[in-house]
Amino acid sequence: MAEGSKHPETLALHAGWRADPSTGAVAPPIYQTTSYQFESTEHASALFALQQLGNIYTRLGNPTTAILEDRMAAIEGGVAALGLSSGQAASAFSLQNLARAGDNVVSSTDLYGGTWNLFANTLKDQGIEVRFVDPADPSAFARATDERTRAYYAETLPNPKLRVFPIAEVAAIGRPLGVPLIMDNTAAPLICRPLDHGAAVVVYSTTKYVGGHGTSIGGLIIDGGNFDWSAHPERQPLLNTPDPSYHGAVWTEATKPMGPVAYIIRARTVLLRDLGAAMSPFNAFQFLQGLETLPLRMPRHCENTQKVVDWLSGRREVTRVIHPSRQSGEGKARAERYLKGGFGGLLGFELAGGRDAGRRFIDALKLFYHVANIGDARSLAIHPASTTHSQLSGEEQLATGVTEGYVRLSIGLEHIDDILADLDQALAAAGA
Ligand code: PLP
Repeated sequence: MAEGSKHPETLALHAGWRADPSTGAVAPPIYQTTSYQFESTEHASALFALQQLGNIYTRLGNPTTAILEDRMAAIEGGVAALGLSSGQAASAFSLQNLARAGDNVVSSTDLYGGTWNLFANTLKDQGIEVRFVDPADPSAFARATDERTRAYYAETLPNPKLRVFPIAEVAAIGRPLGVPLIMDNTAAPLICRPLDHGAAVVVYSTTKYVGGHGTSIGGLIIDGGNFDWSAHPERQPLLNTPDPSYHGAVWTEATKPMGPVAYIIRARTVLLRDLGAAMSPFNAFQFLQGLETLPLRMPRHCENTQKVVDWLSGRREVTRVIHPSRQSGEGKARAERYLKGGFGGLLGFELAGGRDAGRRFIDALKLFYHVANIGDARSLAIHPASTTHSQLSGEEQLATGVTEGYVRLSIGLEHIDDILADLDQALAAAGA
């Protein structure tokens, strides 16, 4: 049944798993094991040679994690996925799978602070240059591209600016050049399917809405299977030239019998094998549990957030509310084109009293948690200028949209009256 369905409500409950063949258990078991017994030496060597897919060692793959991978690939409209230990590992692997020292990537400026740091410092130290461009003008991606550009990277609904990314426009620039668009869809699961708009790869921090309950750190890369990596071999050498770390395999050729999965197979068999950022099976179980109710939770996050946006817009202490529904012109058109069923669970606002008012506001909250996370069932708040974005230079903070009085809210599933009551008393205490 699930195979025939396109509905996320059904896929979130059924895709990739029916019942345990030996016990009949309905809930996916947590396969808390490091290793898997081979049936014979022949079987073992077939697995290592990739002639047969199967379990070898949990750093490379695990049956609980595999259910999550299959389920998320089905929901997203992709062909296969790779679970990882964190969203950061997913972002890093998604690029390291295509780019090496001397290569470059063009990225949107509108990024999570941790991704910005990874790109501007750690990848740079590894010899991978990330060129940041303003996504307001999609053609900036074309201008920043040269023969060593291996990928484009962006977030669907990036905070703090909450400007929806022009997915189809940028994907269309890259495709004829052999440059795939990688989308971080962490903030917009179910309300956006980037692969439908031409993205080639989707990454998630499952720590956020997918898990949904603030219990586990994890990440995921989903291969759209919709990008012809072999059409431009000189553009994508890591997938089209012999890999000395895997008996000289050329990934686009070696994976042909398995379908269009060269990208995700290389990420697993090379990067995960060598760098080891594996998702724990226990966390995979937590994400599966979260995923089951995501189709119910996401609309409520969106609904509560819209009510907070409308309420804050009428407050004298607030100079600006940042949310896709508040944008005009092109920004609004993109929000309406790419987000379906709501504008997400995040919003930002600026307090008239600047940095000090921002701090007083946060310290006065009683229901909202003051945390760095987003996408929890509980409502969350943070003042990015003094926390998540504090390591960035003033110029970098501005490029990412953080100002001194900016407060970010991740709206949870509590009753809207209680959410508004807490915001009301904290605004009064901020004395802006
Ligand atoms: N991408 C986005 C949009 C995020 O918000 C985050 C975390 O806040 C990450 C990636 C990194 O994810 P993780 O914290 O799971 O490493």
